Amino acid sequence: MSSTTELTGAHKSAVVTGAAQGIGRSIAIRLAQDGYNLALNDLPVNKPQLEELAAEITNTHPLKGSSQGPFAHIIVGDVSDSATVQKIVNETASTFGSLDVMVANAGFMRLGPVQDINEDDYEKVMAINARGTMLCFKYAGQQMIKQGKGGSLIAASSTSGRQGHALTASYTMSKFAIRGLVHVTALDLGRFGIRCNAYAPGPVETQLTRDAALVLFKDLPPGEPPKFDRALPGEASTMDVANLVAFLASPQSSFITGQTYGICGGFYLN
Ligand code: NAD
Repeated sequence: MSSTTELTGAHKSAVVTGAAQGIGRSIAIRLAQDGYNLALNDLPVNKPQLEELAAEITNTHPLKGSSQGPFAHIIVGDVSDSATVQKIVNETASTFGSLDVMVANAGFMRLGPVQDINEDDYEKVMAINARGTMLCFKYAGQQMIKQGKGGSLIAASSTSGRQGHALTASYTMSKFAIRGLVHVTALDLGRFGIRCNAYAPGPVETQLTRDAALVLFKDLPPGEPPKFDRALPGEASTMDVANLVAFLASPQSSFITGQTYGICGGFYLN
């Protein structure tokens, strides 16, 4: 069992939105390894996966035995809804005593050429990715200011927040918006000791990219594996992204704010 003083997240709590699968799930597991209590959010339909994740975190938490917990708490709901995000923030603070890290990870993608954009899909992508991240920063920021001990706000941008990729107009717009929001939030909240950064992964195999591959690579011959990028040193795993998030959450990144970090095997210039 680790001593509480060795763990950067001991007696702190972190929210992870979109935690039921993929990158969000790995972020939650990685932050729990650092000792954080975890508030886990996803859509109601994914509650069973959140319950399974909460049980895993509770059973493997490094402070199990020296603290009573609870180490994980589930709050289902849609992050584009203001009342839901307020509930996430309030329940996290009341369950764990504080909210120290907010990871606005939930994301959604719809693909298609710009001349055929489905406007309902566009609204949904912008609502979840851009508005959802803004709401997370707004309400977690308020809570952190009230607590008076700083905090770390972290968002999911993407390589699509650095340059366009064909067929991704709405998604690219939303991820550029997140980069801008991250910089402004860092400037607005810096005087409260609150930092704000984003991670910008290249392709990582998750449900999101499996769905995208069905559209992007539909013309590939059967049996030929889809490949997003060439000349990379390998493929990122969800845990590679989670390790970056753990660093951005921790005091080790104490003078880093307003930045969007590429984690793409060197394919894009930061
Ligand atoms: P994923 O689809 O595997 O997981 C996303 C999760 O978010 C899902 O569990 C989903 O149910 C949840 N979610 C969707 N809408 C929600 C909402 N309105 N409220 C709450 N939860 C919601 O995706 P992922 O690949 O793990 O992506 C995680 C984040 O990383 C996203 O923001 C994505 O845009 C970003 N990202 C992913 C990649 C990649 O290659 N996988 C690359 C760059 C950026």
